[in-house]
Amino acid sequence: MSHRSSDFTKIINAAENLLRELLNVPENYKILFLQGGGSGQFSGVPLNLIGLKEDGCADYLVTGTWSAKAAKEAEKYGKVNVIHPKLDSYTKIPDSSTWSLNPSASYVYYCCNETVHGVEFNFIPDTKGVVLVSDMSSNFLSRPVDVSKFGLIFAGAQKNVGCAGVTVVIVREDLMGKALKECPIILDYQVQAGNNSLYNTPSCFSIYIMGLVLEWIRNNGGADAMKQLNKQKSDIVYDIINHSDGFYSCPVDVACRSRMNIPFRIGKKEGDESLEKSFLDGASKRGMISLKGHRSVGGIRASLYNAVTVEDVKALAAYMEEFLKDHQ
Ligand code: PMP
Repeated sequence: MSHRSSDFTKIINAAENLLRELLNVPENYKILFLQGGGSGQFSGVPLNLIGLKEDGCADYLVTGTWSAKAAKEAEKYGKVNVIHPKLDSYTKIPDSSTWSLNPSASYVYYCCNETVHGVEFNFIPDTKGVVLVSDMSSNFLSRPVDVSKFGLIFAGAQKNVGCAGVTVVIVREDLMGKALKECPIILDYQVQAGNNSLYNTPSCFSIYIMGLVLEWIRNNGGADAMKQLNKQKSDIVYDIINHSDGFYSCPVDVACRSRMNIPFRIGKKEGDESLEKSFLDGASKRGMISLKGHRSVGGIRASLYNAVTVEDVKALAAYMEEFLKDHQ
């Protein structure tokens, strides 16, 4: 099927319309379906937006691995200010009273959910009028979001809305057209918007799958229902951690614990690796895989994306209870 055929045009337009409906995306925002993943947008964002103001600089909140990578990449294209005191560990969001926002920054960037560390923003940062950019790769469509508060939101589809290969970029129209001259054409928002994301062959199959997932979200109650389900699911796991008398421990500040990714250690605060291995082996025997924490932090990580059902989480919870009883 050609990506320029009327059949595929229907598929890509339907996916866009559904996304617009599910997130109430205002008329003055373009929705782009690009390639290169979330990491591609670590470059795409500064290449397109850092020249919005004369100083060519941007403010970054660095609350975990992914925002740290984004800030490092942006340094290639302009001046990056990390606007808060450096964190010793990625377990909290620095209080906004400590942020030194720069009014001449072209944008303020943050990662809404740090996937590796399980740190999630449950508020929208107040940037005092500076354009706000957010990486929502790992909590996209897990709840409603007021798009009008943002200059740009991006998200790889592979966590909550489909499979790898397509990255959603929602960008306010007036921010396009000021890309740096070295911006690769396939990352240029204005070029892609002018071509309905078809400047080059897009990830057609991933867009098709995303359309199906968006339909599933709509048929299951939309973003509000996802919010309610994700709260219910994460509460089940945090509840066990909180009532385990320290057998399970989550290092993240209670105020910013992620509903999507729950990192925890077993046995003692810094983790008992042999117990954790035995937990993972037992989980795998029960058909629960991918519970190993990211290699940079160790321990366990339960990722409860939209596709994970309440029943799945209850099965994990039952196993956690059983493991606790057997090893406490
Ligand atoms: N941002 C976040 C929050 C992520 O979780 C990831 C991937 N796990 C990325 C960016 C990078 O995405 P990709 O692998 O698609 O480049």
